[in-house]
Amino acid sequence: MKCSYCNKESIIFVRRTGKHYCEDHFAHFVLGRVKKYLDKHGIRNKRILVAVSGGKDSMVLLHVLWRLSGQYGLKITSFYLDLGIGGYSKPCGECIREISENLNLALLEVNLK
Ligand SMILES: [Zn+2]
Repeated sequence: MKCSYCNKESIIFVRRTGKHYCEDHFAHFVLGRVKKYLDKHGIRNKRILVAVSGGKDSMVLLHVLWRLSGQYGLKITSFYLDLGIGGYSKPCGECIREISENLNLALLEVNLK
């Protein structure tokens, strides 16, 4: 299936819009949705604490907010609550530390113990 906006292959169909998206247009779509939310709620020049689990959803949100941080004057801190779940929390924490460092974001980490 082709992207609804260009000739590239679609990577996802979004039922809400009824459109197929290639990688580039899907990234544009997601950024647009977050921008719309920030605009609607007047979120500019704010400090934002983004709670992340290390899973794909929260990491995408962190990355998208980071990409928009300059335009919206956002100061982002990532927050990770280490639940101490064996075999799960450790790699999640490592992933969050690495991504926070790569994005040059402050990281607040709390160990539940
Ligand atoms: Zn496309």
